[in-house]
Amino acid sequence: MKNTYLDNAATTPIRQEVITEMTKVLTENFGNPSSSHSFGRSSKNLVELSRKNIAKNINCSAQEIIFTSCGTEANNFIIQSCLRDLNVTRIITSKIEHHAVLHTVEVLQKQYAIDVDYVAILEDGTIDYNDLEVLLAQDKKTLVSLMHVNNEIGTVLNLAKVAQLCKNNNAYFHTDTVQSIGKTEINVQELPVNFLVASAHKFHGPKGIGFAFIRKNIVLKPILLGGEQEKGLRAGTESVHNIVGMATALDISIQHLAEEKAYVSNLKVYLMQQLEITFPECIFIGNQNEVFYNILNVILPFDEAKTSMLLFQLDINGIAVSRGSACQSGSVKPSHVLEAFVAKEHLNKPNIRISLSHYNTKEEIDYLINTLKKI
Ligand code: PLP
Repeated sequence: MKNTYLDNAATTPIRQEVITEMTKVLTENFGNPSSSHSFGRSSKNLVELSRKNIAKNINCSAQEIIFTSCGTEANNFIIQSCLRDLNVTRIITSKIEHHAVLHTVEVLQKQYAIDVDYVAILEDGTIDYNDLEVLLAQDKKTLVSLMHVNNEIGTVLNLAKVAQLCKNNNAYFHTDTVQSIGKTEINVQELPVNFLVASAHKFHGPKGIGFAFIRKNIVLKPILLGGEQEKGLRAGTESVHNIVGMATALDISIQHLAEEKAYVSNLKVYLMQQLEITFPECIFIGNQNEVFYNILNVILPFDEAKTSMLLFQLDINGIAVSRGSACQSGSVKPSHVLEAFVAKEHLNKPNIRISLSHYNTKEEIDYLINTLKKI
């Protein structure tokens, strides 16, 4: 049995160089960045160098980066603050967002008595831009919250188009870029987004650290109250080793982006070819010419009775993939994402999400296919 990790949309292995940097910080830089003595100053220096480094990689200024504990916190912070501090009275989002956005919006809708509109999803799992345009034409102070790359199906939002629509209609635009930061170039000088969020563990960095980009001149208030860290926007002693780890991971990912993207894209083509040869009736979810290069969600032509056992069977063979659905006490519910647009007759069929990184190999794909053949 080979351990085969094909679940990189859930989390990614940390790069060795990141572990080395983090270990160095843990060993040598334990000072509290808020302390004024040399121990504190040296930690503060690392935090600010990391901020600059991250800012450089998305082409913003360092002041526009706020460190958070994860992508979920960054999403919560932005959405909640927009309602509280920017007089937003309506959110436009979609039914295929990550729960970090969907559940936050659901709770805040009640708390702030705001309107929520869900933009229509087309049959290929993409956003209906015409519907978005119609919704935006209504005269309400609006926050649009739409994710860049969908974590379950890999569909990609046209950020430039949505940003422009929002700008034309005087709406704020927040995008969850947790699945895309570090895997594709994002330049906020060219994209008029107001907010975006990232999470280090999705780009071969540590867990427990993320960041929010908040465009200059947008004034938000903190949700976490306490000290003056992060310009008073996010109290709590900075996780220096995690911040350094995140900056290092992003920097390396961007440096190797072209070669790693080409490698993973080829691997995905190979995966699709092998699946089509072995299971000619399999269905790839989404238009694969436009789906992100490291994610493939495939419906397998297996008996529906095999649905609940599929992940288990792969797991006992050392293969980690996911379904993007909640398995509870033997019953398998379709995921909220697939439910939003996949035809009913396909919804209960076994599907798996395979998500790749540059650490994966063709041999691992062959092993997955051979194991699937035996199920
Ligand atoms: N948004 C998306 C699209 C994700 O895929 C995830 C993680 O699965 C999150 C948000 C949450 O990120 P974190 O694990 O850093 O809270």
